[in-house]
Amino acid sequence: MKIKKVRSISFKLTLWYIAILTIILILAGVFLYQGFRVNLVNEMDETILEIANEVYDSWKWHRGVTWEEAILETKEEFKVHRPFIQVVKFDDDEKEVMGVIQAGEKRGEPLVLDTRTYCKAERADIDELVYLKVKEKKLSAYPLRLVLLPGKDPYIVQVGISFEETAMALRRLMIIMVFAGLLILGLASAGGNFIIRKALKPVQKTVSTAKEITADDLSLRIDSENRGDEIGALVNTFNEMIARLEKSVKKIKQFSGDVSHELRTPLTNIRGEIEVILRKDRKKEKYQNTLKSVLEETYKIEKIIDDLLFLSRVESAEKIKFKKGVLLDEIVLRVVESQEQSSKEQNVELVIKKLKSYPIKGNESLLERLVSNLLSNAVKYTPSGGKVEINMEKKDSSLLFSVMDTGVGIPQESLPYIFDRFYVVDKSRSRETGGTGLGLSIVKTVADIHGASVNVQSQKGQGTAFQVRFPLS
Ligand code: ADP
Repeated sequence: MKIKKVRSISFKLTLWYIAILTIILILAGVFLYQGFRVNLVNEMDETILEIANEVYDSWKWHRGVTWEEAILETKEEFKVHRPFIQVVKFDDDEKEVMGVIQAGEKRGEPLVLDTRTYCKAERADIDELVYLKVKEKKLSAYPLRLVLLPGKDPYIVQVGISFEETAMALRRLMIIMVFAGLLILGLASAGGNFIIRKALKPVQKTVSTAKEITADDLSLRIDSENRGDEIGALVNTFNEMIARLEKSVKKIKQFSGDVSHELRTPLTNIRGEIEVILRKDRKKEKYQNTLKSVLEETYKIEKIIDDLLFLSRVESAEKIKFKKGVLLDEIVLRVVESQEQSSKEQNVELVIKKLKSYPIKGNESLLERLVSNLLSNAVKYTPSGGKVEINMEKKDSSLLFSVMDTGVGIPQESLPYIFDRFYVVDKSRSRETGGTGLGLSIVKTVADIHGASVNVQSQKGQGTAFQVRFPLS
């Protein structure tokens, strides 16, 4: 099995930080070193040129001064640089070195360069003098920086100084840079790590709080400390998510409590009736009556389970996009037909006021359930002699379907809850009518997945009007 190495973000960020900083420091070091080196070489060039000029001037401007004297005098003047001075006698026509003049030179043999270099030096202007770097082990362990200054023909003043000092200075610079670089890297990575950890601290806090949050306790929230940054936004999003979860879990708990309670009532009734009838021998009719009432209770249980299954099916289909157009007026007519019998039995008049035909996108059987629940409620809660009116018309870009009755009405304080599952206004009445308190939840859920809204207006004792507004595509 492959083991995945877990590295913290702060560790990774610090590594990145060190890597980038190292690259920057190396680049800066290279630029600094090169700049310093070029500067030092320029300084050397200035010095050797100054020395060469001095030798030449001493010889040229002081009558009777020999080259040897001029060299010795200049060497004395510039002794801190320990210059290597010689005057080369060069025949430009023959391209031949005729002799080399040295004075007080303890470093041995003269340094004779190739004739091409002397030719070039001989012809050079003042601004294009020949500078060169020469390695001559016999003279010095370090290379020499040389300048060739053409004097009066056939003399060329050749002055050099050792790279020793420059090399030492560069080495010192290198050592300082390496130490300074390491120090900067160390300090910067410690500081960077500290800052990164500080910035990520709320994330750690979020993690530890998140660990404490369980389905049993969703009341915990993470303190965003009023941060307006990305972490604050993350914490707020997380808190909102937990709040939504808390709400859902509460709803689920409430729902399962309600379901058990609603199923328990008919089951208790069944058990009670059976226990009573079994206490002693009874007549056949008594048994039949009990069985009838047991059957009714089982119908109720069946209805509750059917409704719940229907709701869960509809809710899981919440994201469906309906493609088929259905005609609501046809559905309404079908439902009215199926309920005519029961409304007649209750002496409630069913009236269709207007029924406009417009196709809406939806599912036929779900919409049939919506219409049927509203209509059966209207009939159920309207006393004998009352009226239920159905209306369907187009308004703006919506299709309005309404069911109005002259029934018992719903008290104002109950209106906000009537779409809740298992909510019934009058428990004893619902028991009589066989209501489960799920009818309007189904209406609301079906309306929701069709993008429709449901409105209710009611006056206690006078009647109720439900209106569903379907968007017309
Ligand atoms: P039930 O199965 O009990 O009818 P519903 O969810 O369909 O459950 O309705 C919830 C409650 O709303 C009912 O108990 C009832 O009191 C009230 N209600 C619904 N429709 C009407 C109506 N047309 N007139 C008066 N009350 C109504």
